[in-house]
Amino acid sequence: MSLKGEKAVVCGAGGFIGGHLVKSLLENGVDVIRAVDVKPLEEWYQVTDGVESLSLDLKDQENCHVAAKGATLVYQLAADMGGMGFIENNKALCMLSVLTNTHMLLAAKDAGVKRFFYASSACVYNGEKQTNANVIPLRESDAYPALPEDGYGWEKLFSERMCRHFEEDFGLVARVARYHNVYGPHGTWNGGREKAPAAICRKVIEAKRSGNHEIEIWGNGHQTRSFMYIDDCVLGTQMIMESNIDEPINLGSSELVTINQLVDIVEDIAGVRLQRKYNLSAPKGVNGRNSDNTMILDRLSWEPSTKLRDGMETTYRWIEGEIERGASGK
Ligand code: NAD
Repeated sequence: MSLKGEKAVVCGAGGFIGGHLVKSLLENGVDVIRAVDVKPLEEWYQVTDGVESLSLDLKDQENCHVAAKGATLVYQLAADMGGMGFIENNKALCMLSVLTNTHMLLAAKDAGVKRFFYASSACVYNGEKQTNANVIPLRESDAYPALPEDGYGWEKLFSERMCRHFEEDFGLVARVARYHNVYGPHGTWNGGREKAPAAICRKVIEAKRSGNHEIEIWGNGHQTRSFMYIDDCVLGTQMIMESNIDEPINLGSSELVTINQLVDIVEDIAGVRLQRKYNLSAPKGVNGRNSDNTMILDRLSWEPSTKLRDGMETTYRWIEGEIERGASGK
């Protein structure tokens, strides 16, 4: 299905990925009729001219009807979330996003929406498959038997299944992508919700500026991850929405690094070397996780391909500029 000319609503548009998605959809000929987020407009990372931008709490069912009115496509990215430091300490808040997902699905069904996109997460995968830093990349089938990340991952897995049953029972066509660690400019880099790439950039910049050449790393630095650059994320999101893939699919990079290697990259970009202090009691997530991209390559003949070094350079320079201008980064 071509998305050109369709009327889209982006939920969570004041956030990191949603803000980029609005712009990319418009560039690709989609008529974004509305952008919605619970945050007041002045706190959105990006506001796009010409798009109706509403501050609404989508946990509330009435607000979801306002959001979905007149739409043919809904992109549901609104969620109360953050990096490991946030999701390990706010499990109830993470699970309350089930209200947003439930009410947006109902509103989309009532509004006669043609397609519903749901942003799921690699946190749905069974934790027992992620105990070793020498990972076997996660295939879509590894979500079952279910043992997802407590709180956040359980909510994502439940909401994935709700999408499936809304399609089966009510004919609302749903597309579900399991995002793996997304990073890039125009997201949070401070305040407790930031993820590893942005947090490491901030810490390296602060160390460089202060002259105190030390960095605290959560865990022992041997944990492995892959990180997807934002441009790949918004492109993949649109390809999945257009496609006939009617099961959850990985959307992530398969370039695996240890957290120590990620710090090496940021130190290279910054031109400094720092003394590393490992905080073994800080939240660190699973030991190893990577995206198996067999399915996306098979179905779309495409996978996220921005090199981590290139994406981190752009991200670092953006955060550096934000720190220089005195932004809060929240
Ligand atoms: P983000 O926190 O920057 O954006 C989410 C936005 O949703 C925020 O602006 C927040 O204010 C909004 N929101 C929260 N509760 C809301 C509510 N009740 N009503 C309306 N808006 C509400 O996060 P992001 O990185 O842009 O993530 C977007 C989506 O992708 C989320 O669903 C997230 O779970 C998923 N995801 C992200 C990543 C990642 O690495 N960034 C990885 C996996 C999945």
